[in-house]
Amino acid sequence: MTTTNWAERATALKIDGRMLIDGVRRETQTGETFAKHSPIDARLLGPIARGLAADVDTAVRSARTAFEDGRWASKAPAQRKKILQKFSELILGAKEELALLETLDMGKPIQYSLAVDVPACARCIAWYAEAVDKIYDEIAPTAASALALVTREPMGVIGVIVPWNYPMIMAAWKLGPALAAGNSVVLKPSEKSPLTALRLAELALEAGLPQGVFNVVPGYGHEAGEALALHMEVDAIGFTGSTRVGRRMYEYAGKSNLKRVYNELGGKSAFVVFEDYADVARAAKTVSGGMFFNQGESCNAPSRVLVHESIADEFVATLKTEAPKYAPADPLDAKTEMGALVDDTQLKTVLGYIEAGHAQGARVVSGGRQVRGETGGYYVEPTVFDNVTNDMKIAQEEIFGPVMSVIRFRTEDEAIALANGSSYGLQASVWSDNINRAHRVARGLRAGTVHVNSYDEDDITVPFGGYKQSGNGRDKSLHAFDKYTELKTTWIRIDGAR
Ligand code: NAD
Repeated sequence: MTTTNWAERATALKIDGRMLIDGVRRETQTGETFAKHSPIDARLLGPIARGLAADVDTAVRSARTAFEDGRWASKAPAQRKKILQKFSELILGAKEELALLETLDMGKPIQYSLAVDVPACARCIAWYAEAVDKIYDEIAPTAASALALVTREPMGVIGVIVPWNYPMIMAAWKLGPALAAGNSVVLKPSEKSPLTALRLAELALEAGLPQGVFNVVPGYGHEAGEALALHMEVDAIGFTGSTRVGRRMYEYAGKSNLKRVYNELGGKSAFVVFEDYADVARAAKTVSGGMFFNQGESCNAPSRVLVHESIADEFVATLKTEAPKYAPADPLDAKTEMGALVDDTQLKTVLGYIEAGHAQGARVVSGGRQVRGETGGYYVEPTVFDNVTNDMKIAQEEIFGPVMSVIRFRTEDEAIALANGSSYGLQASVWSDNINRAHRVARGLRAGTVHVNSYDEDDITVPFGGYKQSGNGRDKSLHAFDKYTELKTTWIRIDGAR
């Protein structure tokens, strides 16, 4: 597919921004919409439904009715599997349309929407579908006078609130286990990326998911998001987003029905390179790929790079040649490696952090500027700061843009202390050819995932989530079922048992 093709198809695309509730596309009750512009070049993508509390209420009631009457929850796991497998196939069938919507909506390069986002979303749905008729419940080892069954039941109505950086994948990480387990869902996508969520819900219906089981209400966080998290008929919230808003989720639960809250939040992941790792260039290339992928808008971006002082100059020299390879370009060009930041606010935030880095004495060795301003879109060069100390703002706060900080260290203990010197604990990486050191450091790092001599290894089979203020609970893997099921114990008395 050439650039011209994608650009042409983008102009021809029909976008329907209405909500999807109870199997039907509909306007909000007030008829209110908001204008959604593309970060690529500020083009108007269309009016999007601005869901308010009354709309969320309608969606939750629809989900509750669907749950209570058992149209989905009471289906045999094998039947749910079939429908969700079909859903996954339809996602793959609509690959190009979904990829284009994602790229236009939030600015990532079309090649990655196609190669990463759509397939990962489809695989996630298929994986939970395939798992659900292979999971058995338990019988507890009690005395012979009783039979104690420990079973899992779907929780009910799950509110899903997701961010804009991987809109389809973040939604799928919740939808997969929640729907496979038999729950109903109300999804509130980010106001910055509502388009693919709405199409996903249509495809689910086409696959045979009963009406009301999967509803989508677009809107703002402080309106639709808050209403969903406060709703008395929502049993759990699966939230992915900032730590700031994650805190609010607990407040909403406390103010309403103590719904379960599962937070997948921010990160400031450390990438630790020891002097005994032979291939310094490989480590530097890997961290550049991990950091600048998705414009640096990844919760697990390895944004704190801790390098032993004896190899730091060589490491930084490689970063200087690697970083410019990710120079932003037209996201609709199939060769583009880095696209546009999601909006003007994010652009200003990232530029503000670059200013703060300068002001606190760090040194830019590559990038540092806004580019492609003439397009009307929001682009920043891949940026590398050297001479960073761990107490600087750029080392402590999540930037969520293409900005990497290099911090030099002297000893293993110092490296571990620096890596753990963060309120976050999402991911980390250790590079060493010494197997003892690699294990020692991996154990010492307080993070949900630790990579050894690698970064961005990823598979639906492994849990994803953080320590500390990076969240609680885990997305992906069979562990994710824990979030959307209740454990029930049923005691059965056996009279006359020997
Ligand atoms: P955000 O917290 O601003 O918004 C996330 C979602 O919450 C959006 O749908 C938004 O509309 C909604 N929201 C905002 N305010 C709300 C409120 N008061 N009540 C209810 N809902 C509200 O985050 P973002 O800017 O969209 O996404 C970036 C963040 O997501 C980063 O911090 C990133 O690290 C994090 N993230 C984490 C993971 C993970 O798995 N740990 C994955 C991706 C992104």
